[in-house]
Amino acid sequence: MEQADRITIPFFKVKGVLLFLFLVNNFYLNAQSRPVQALAPGVFYYFGDELQKKSANCLWVVFKDYVLAVDANYPWGAEEILREIRKTTDKPVRFVFNTHYHHDHTWGNSVFVDSGAVVVASRVTDGEMRTLGQVEWDRRSAYSGGDMGPYRREFPSLTFDRRMVFDDGTHRVELILMGPAHTAGDAVAWLPKEKILATGDLCVNGNPWGNNVADKNADYDRWLRVLDSLASWGASTVIPGHGDPGGSGILKQQRDYLADMLAQVRKGIETGKSKEDLVKEIDLSKHPVRGGNTVSNHRSIRAMYDKLKGLW
Ligand SMILES: [Zn+2]
Repeated sequence: MEQADRITIPFFKVKGVLLFLFLVNNFYLNAQSRPVQALAPGVFYYFGDELQKKSANCLWVVFKDYVLAVDANYPWGAEEILREIRKTTDKPVRFVFNTHYHHDHTWGNSVFVDSGAVVVASRVTDGEMRTLGQVEWDRRSAYSGGDMGPYRREFPSLTFDRRMVFDDGTHRVELILMGPAHTAGDAVAWLPKEKILATGDLCVNGNPWGNNVADKNADYDRWLRVLDSLASWGASTVIPGHGDPGGSGILKQQRDYLADMLAQVRKGIETGKSKEDLVKEIDLSKHPVRGGNTVSNHRSIRAMYDKLKGLW
């Protein structure tokens, strides 16, 4: 019966359907550059594509009764992430965790909230969202690269001081404050059963960023110790804030890059070099993923110089 029905559809209708499918397909192709990856039963990874202005990675965990998502991306990224979550489960997306306050990890919050989620973050991140985050929001599209007009900010309504645990016997997700490091409020999501660690921007791995060390609240020496600590947890999969997943090795690469930059900036300051001397002279090319982006390196070196000199 079905086959017979299909054969009797007039040609112009088939053409219309094909055109419709083509347009839909094209929209989604533009919208997503890499398919969602299942990391473990009920645990999924969404690649945040910087070139498509949806830069932050997302992880979600399907519990028995609800879904917890890690990082909210920009609003258009959040809309796409919610569509992708719907392909993996029909359970409600009840929580979205912000690893830190930056625009690319939090501006999609309102999209999650409108679909029924509660925003979760460390108490320190909540505070940063209301202060430094306001400075970012005042510049809106200069950061997001898209029209923020239809969207609003949403702040955490559930916060924790040091740790918050979601555990329904099937999955366990520990949200753990690690900052100050890349920001004051950095927190990670740790899945001890699957040994999956979502780091936020404590660790990035390409796409095509070097690394953003230019936060006002960054604490570089502590950040190095945090990376050492994270590397000792025995994660088998590390989901960085941006770029490709890896093993614990990407934490070490991140550490080496940051330590090298810090040592060179410190040495430059000790020997009386100017900020722009350092921008010209510091060579980070031995760090292939993070060191390759000179725009990002220069911004980071300038910020590090200012912070270490107490100018900022
Ligand atoms: Zn980020």
